[in-house]
Amino acid sequence: MNLPEKTRILNHPERAVPEETSDILVQGMVAHVGFIQDEQPFVIPMSYYYDPQQPEFLYLHGSVRSRTLKHLAGGAPVCVTVTLTDGLVYSRKAMNHSMNYRSVVLFGKAREITQESHKAALFDQMVRRYFPGRTLGQDYHAPPSQDLRATALVEVTLEEVSAKARRGNPTGPEDDDAKAMGSAGVIDLREF
Ligand SMILES: Cc1cc2nc3c(=O)[nH]c(=O)nc-3n(C[C@H](O)[C@H](O)[C@H](O)COP(=O)(O)OP(=O)(O)OC[C@H]3O[C@@H](n4cnc5c(N)ncnc54)[C@H](O)[C@@H]3O)c2cc1C
Repeated sequence: MNLPEKTRILNHPERAVPEETSDILVQGMVAHVGFIQDEQPFVIPMSYYYDPQQPEFLYLHGSVRSRTLKHLAGGAPVCVTVTLTDGLVYSRKAMNHSMNYRSVVLFGKAREITQESHKAALFDQMVRRYFPGRTLGQDYHAPPSQDLRATALVEVTLEEVSAKARRGNPTGPEDDDAKAMGSAGVIDLREF
């Protein structure tokens, strides 16, 4: 299969925000990791690590028993989606209900990282990404070798990436008319 334009945004191309790719990946919490195994597609939610100083890589970790990580470690193609839900958009017209979002879809291939010092450094950065302010050696112990060996780490090399965002108000034909039937607006989710 040849999909040379698989990251070109065809639907609402004006919503392409490639310059926001790093910000979205930095702010995201959950990566939906998609792959095909034995012709069956899977999409598995996972935490991840991304460093904007090394924007070509994204890291996933989990148990060495993880089917997903074992599969990816073998170099299988992977598609990772990260989504930020910014708002719920309601309209006077049913069809114009929507969501404000920022999201990234990336395609790549993974390799396993086995060197314990590399794994320990990445895991520490990952803890600090999700729990800013926690300090290794002060708030928690360094992982012993046994834990590092029990935890698989894969490095996804980003090959193609797209970023897309919807922002703003509903776009129904009567949404700006305060006298029209119904109601329209945006519930801002960024505060939650
Ligand atoms: C927010 C979030 C963050 C997570 N972060 C991580 C992480 O960083 N590392 C990690 O290893 N795991 C993480 N998990 C758990 C992860 O989703 C998988 O359950 C786990 O990795 C096992 O993967 P596997 O491929 O071995 O699953 P398997 O047990 O082989 O999956 C078999 C089947 O179980 C079902 N299944 C698996 N996982 C889920 C799920 N989460 N929800 C519903 N059904 C499921 C699916 O039908 C799947 O086909 C996270 C889950 C969530 C929701």
